[in-house]
Order: sequence, then structure tokens, then C-alpha cells
Amino acid sequence: MIAQAKNLLKQHYGYDSFRPGQEKIIDNLLHGRRTMGIMPTGGGKSICYQIPSLIFPGVTLVISPLISLMKDQVDELNAVGIPSVYINSSLTAQEVNQRLALMKQGHYQLVYIAPERLEAPSFINTLGGLNVSLVAVDEAHCLSQWGHDFRPSYMRIPELIAKLHSNPAVLALTATSTPEVTKDICSALEVDQEHVVQTGFARENLSFHVLKGVDRDAYMRDYVRKNNDQSGIIYTATRKEAERLFQLLDSLEIRVGKYHGGMNSHEREEMQEKFVYDEIQVMVATNAFGMGINKSNVRYVLHYQMPRNIESYYQEAGRAGRDGGESECILLFSAQDIRIQQFLIEQSGLSDTRKENEYRKLQAMTNFCHTENCLQAFILDYFGETSPEPCGKCHHCVDDRDVEDVTRDAQMVFSCVKRMRERFGKTLVSQVLVGSSSKKIHEFSFHKLSTYGLMKGKTQKEVSQFIDYLIASQFLALSDGTYPVIQLTEKSALVLKGELKVERKQERQRKIVAASHPLF
Ligand code: ADP
Ligand code: ZN
Repeated sequence: MIAQAKNLLKQHYGYDSFRPGQEKIIDNLLHGRRTMGIMPTGGGKSICYQIPSLIFPGVTLVISPLISLMKDQVDELNAVGIPSVYINSSLTAQEVNQRLALMKQGHYQLVYIAPERLEAPSFINTLGGLNVSLVAVDEAHCLSQWGHDFRPSYMRIPELIAKLHSNPAVLALTATSTPEVTKDICSALEVDQEHVVQTGFARENLSFHVLKGVDRDAYMRDYVRKNNDQSGIIYTATRKEAERLFQLLDSLEIRVGKYHGGMNSHEREEMQEKFVYDEIQVMVATNAFGMGINKSNVRYVLHYQMPRNIESYYQEAGRAGRDGGESECILLFSAQDIRIQQFLIEQSGLSDTRKENEYRKLQAMTNFCHTENCLQAFILDYFGETSPEPCGKCHHCVDDRDVEDVTRDAQMVFSCVKRMRERFGKTLVSQVLVGSSSKKIHEFSFHKLSTYGLMKGKTQKEVSQFIDYLIASQFLALSDGTYPVIQLTEKSALVLKGELKVERKQERQRKIVAASHPLF
């Protein structure tokens, strides 16, 4: 059967061989196994259900939230000789019925459905009676409450599958799944752990950079100018900021577009179209922009602010270089970004448990900004890959400063945290360490602690940044919530006992490296 699949790959798409993961997924499906596929953006997920749809006798349902993409996908499929159709909210009831009728008569191999359709029980019942061979669930992380984009209508999918008389194969697909989310998806869709096919998450053509303390406007302006023959996306955390940057670049006569939730759908479509056809060079956008943009030659993604979590970050950054060409992903970090994201989480109206979950994810994102190890490896580790190799091209991989032993400094911090009973945040801990005399310190009598003023020679900012580094390296942990307190970890206990060393890239050379780095 897999030989037949290969022939179809050649015949319809003109490709000679499958990409990693594709063959295993297709083989599973052809044997009727419920399967989950985790592949990076651009990895070739669509072919995993499109080819089986050509082999199966019945229809393949594709559940996808990307309504704006459906029409294009269906047009492309019809063009390569795969009869397809979509059903979503852009159709009238009459059109829906017409399509369903043709579906019953076996006119289509592939039918794309927006998940919202499943909220109508009558719709589920109608589908139940059809000969469905495969159900493909795109963006399957939307099924999990712990994912970053939970969609309640996805919860209807198990119900739909149960109603299908034809006992179809099932395929869940996503590009962003943590081990927690994978478990959720597998249990909801009854996929055996052994049928989870995961190809590497690594995007070899992307180089990641985190820059701190730069003048962001100036940096962005220079970067966009320097890359004026390239397509790029600039992401901001808020609409207001997107508007401001749009004005700023526009005043410099840069071909800039904007995209955010405050614009009407007509304006947004127009901007997207112009971007796709290279009439716009750079798009300034909030996270509203992306789900479904299919532009392959985006050469850079610049995050003007830190996004809310690693999942969103990797998805957004991953819109660069879908054509496989070398591309840059740059994040401009400032400590205020954390507060903006905390505010957005507070305003989100989520339940307390889900808010806590969001705070945990935000902390991981912050750690990404403070780590001094490979950035790509940090992301892969977050998504559950075991011992990822350094990428060799990110900000930290190309930073060849010497490493120094900072164990003694770390011990000072840890014993101070211990003396303060692990009940206070970064600001107060660093104030105690540098011996500052704030009101709060006297209130708690912290000036009487033996660790008070232990790091007098440093500024509070330096100590605070050192603590960020210790958190990012898991020597310290932060509690969840709006006012996180610093806590010791197993690693810090070992350091205090003298059984583990703490190392860090040398401070003094930092500026020299910065000046010679091509990104500055
Ligand atoms: P994803 O949905 O995982 O982001 P797509 O399904 O859109 O990725 O595929 C990305 C690109 O890779 C498409 O242009 C697709 O035609 C191409 N592609 C997929 N599979 C193969 C293959 N086996 N050989 C070569 N190109 C492929
Ligand atoms: Zn790296």
C-alpha cells in the first residue's frame, strides 16, 4: 500500500520521496490506526492525510480552524486533481446542504470543515450517516485546555468520531505540542502512545536571537532598512503598539502594512493580500496575524516585545523561512514585557487554574529570554525532545565568550533566599544582597540578616539579572501568580553543599562581543 502512496505522491505532487514522519503516519492510517503526527511548520503535514484520502474508498474529513485558508487549500487540491470542498460559516444554509448532498453521492475525496460546525447536533448526525474513511484533525493542540489555543468546539470532535458508522481512521496533527498537550490529545482521540509520530521540531534554517537593553525603535528601524529587499513580520504585544510602529515605519517611507484585531475583516484581508504579493515589505502585527498565512519567503520575524508563551513564540517565529531559506528570528526583550503579559493574563477572564497555567508558560518564555544556552535547544527541550543538540547558529551558540565560575556569587544568593524563607520576590532579594536601605527592608528587619549587603560591590540591577540567569538555568524557581516568590531548587541545594558548580559567560567581554556581532 505504501508503494501506491509513493506513486500518488509523484503523480499528484511531483515529489520523489516522503519527508521524515510522513511515511510512518500514512502507513499507520492505511492500517486503520489512530495516529498523532507532530511536525514543525512547513514539515508537510497536509500530505499525511491528502494521500490516504486518495486511497480510501470513503471521504476524508479535515477539521481545521483556518477558515481563511480553506478556500485556497481546496482550490489547490482541485487543481492537482483531488476533488475537494469546504464547509464553513462563509456559506449559506442552501450551499451547505448542496455540498452535503454531493458528498453523500461520493463526489469528494476531501471535505474541510470548520470546528464550529460541529456545535450543531444536526450537522454531526448528518455526517454520521456518511461513508467517512478518515478524520484528520488539524491544529490538534486546540483540543487541550493546557494548549495555548484551546477551542471549545474541538471538544465535539470525539463525539463526531463516535457517531461515524464507518469506523474511520483518525489523524491528529499539530506543530506545537508539549508532552502534557500530547497526552490530552491522545486521550481525547483514543490514540495509542506508540502511534504518536514525532519528527524533530528543529527548524534548521532559522537562527534565534534575543537582544536585551537595545533601543527598540532604533534597532527595528535600522534592521528593516538594512533588509529592505526582504519580507518580514514584526510582532507586537498590543494593537496600540502595532499602530505606533506602523506609523513610525510608514513615516520612513517603508512599504509597511499592519494587521490586528481592531481592524475590520476587509482591511485585514487587503493587508494580508498585499503582503503575500510582496506589495508590502514588512507587516507590523499582533498575534491576530498568522493563523493561516501562507507566505513562504518571509526572511525575518522580529518580536518587538516578548510574546506570552513559547508555543506562540515558536509558531510566530516559525513563519520565517517556510521555503527552507536561511532566516532570522529576533526577539527584543525588556523586563516591562513581562508586566504587559501579566496584565493581559489578568484581563483574560480565564479561570484561576488556567491563569496559573498561563503564568507558568509565561515564566518559561521569560526563562528563554534569560538563558545563555542554545535558544533552539531551549525550545526543543520545552516541547519534550530529549537532550537536543546546540544549533550552532543562534545568539548564544555564536557567542564565544569564556565561561567563568560564579559558584560563590550563586551561593550568596541562595543563602539569602533561604534566610528570607523563600517568601519574597526578586526585587527584595536583590535589595537585601546589595544592602539597600528601603522601608520594606527595615519593616522585615532584613538589615539584620547575615546575608545583608553580601554583594555590596554590585548594583541591584546586576544582582537582579544574575537572579534571572539562575532562574533560567533552574538553580532557582519562581512560584506561580502575579507576585512570584523566589524558591530554591534541587540544583541550588547541591550548590550550597558544594557538590555542583555554577558557570556563566564572562561579563566583561560582553560589550565587545555585542559591538562586533552582526546583529548590532
Ligand atoms: P505544514 O502544514 O506542516 O506546515 P505543508 O503541508 O503546508 O506543511 O507543506 C509544506 C511544504 O512542503 C509544501 O509546499 C509541500 O508541498 C511541501 N512538501 C510536503 N511534503 C513533501 C515531500 N515529501 N517532498 C517535498 N516537498 C514536500
Ligand atoms: Zn543555538
